[in-house]
Amino acid sequence: MKKNIYKTGFFGEFGGSFLPKELEKVVADLAKTYEKLKNDPAFQAELKHFYQVYANRPSLLYFAKNLTTKLGGPKIYLKREDLNHTGAHKINNVIGQGLLAKHMGKTKLIAETGAGQHGVATATIAAYLGMQCDIYMGARDIKNQKANVYRMKILGAKVIPVTQGQGTLKDAVDVALQSFLSDHQNTHYLLGSVVGPHPYPTMVRDFQKIIGQEIRSQLQEAENCLPTAVVACVGGGSNALGAMYEFIKDVSVQLVAVEPAGKGQKSGRHGLSLALGQSAILHGFKTLSLLTKTGEIAESYSAASGLDYPGVGPELSMLKSTGRLSLAAISDAEAVAAFVELARTEGIIPALESAHAIAYILKYAKKYKTSDVVVINLSGRGDKDVENIYENFLN
Ligand SMILES: *Cc1c(COP(=O)(O)O)cnc(C)c1O
Repeated sequence: MKKNIYKTGFFGEFGGSFLPKELEKVVADLAKTYEKLKNDPAFQAELKHFYQVYANRPSLLYFAKNLTTKLGGPKIYLKREDLNHTGAHKINNVIGQGLLAKHMGKTKLIAETGAGQHGVATATIAAYLGMQCDIYMGARDIKNQKANVYRMKILGAKVIPVTQGQGTLKDAVDVALQSFLSDHQNTHYLLGSVVGPHPYPTMVRDFQKIIGQEIRSQLQEAENCLPTAVVACVGGGSNALGAMYEFIKDVSVQLVAVEPAGKGQKSGRHGLSLALGQSAILHGFKTLSLLTKTGEIAESYSAASGLDYPGVGPELSMLKSTGRLSLAAISDAEAVAAFVELARTEGIIPALESAHAIAYILKYAKKYKTSDVVVINLSGRGDKDVENIYENFLN
């Protein structure tokens, strides 16, 4: 059953597609369609158009003057993905896959969601494109994430509780895949990050790479230079790869992937998949993943639910293996401190996920020259986190 049938869709040893036969066929069809659309100028023009009129692109490249002054350099720029419609980079991907689904004649989008951010983004684009939408969500998560459940329902999506297993994200993925298989004629499974079987890692990266393309031209205009470093937090890796892809070939640009150290590396409660992961197959693809001593997929942890994933995108696994990626680890406590710091120096409340990337520069500013230019991808806004931070950390 777990046999790889692809030659393409690999990033070094990582990636590919390792699925039961019937699902293999469905994703292979998707790969074929995407390959065609990818090179279709009309599709690319449509994508650009919706980025502008719906997502509010280009997002600002904002010079964080106060933070720069306070740290004494380097020059810090924030790529403001938090200003996109729905408040994060996720809209870029759902626009792309929503249009793709329309082109394939699909009438329904399905997705799984943990904390609900990807569910809300998917429900948003479904509403906009006039498609049905089913969101699979663990029963436990539904209880803990009421606001996002309300958002999805207001947007017209059906939120389907998953009670099997532990009733969490992983179980929701299993049920969503089953439902995809049973109705793949009408349904598109909209994956939320650069993970999963081929073509998802390539496709989602293509829909997110606009972030780095804009950084290049905006920084050219502002500073007439390439960034010294591009810094981003890593859950599955879509905002990181989206910001970095454009600069992979510019070897002078340092690419910094910031992973969640959670309660600390020694505690075992973290999400350091790139730093500590081993090659394994999860959710139908090969990548670096946290494993238990007996070789099972381990549970990850981060206070930022968007970073709480035991694996990571296969292309990032490759970039780590080849030494192109620099890694950093930021704990919950450091991220919370950065969350408050950015709010109070710049008047910007970041998502707790993005606060990990901010924490990197607070911790390591001294590694850079004052003339260096560091671009931090501010993947999302922090509205969803304010109650948690205020109640649990500031009181
Ligand atoms: C979902 C999310 C992330 C993590 O996902 P990636 O695919 O790693 O980008 C990071 N930041 C925000 C704001 C998110 O919503």
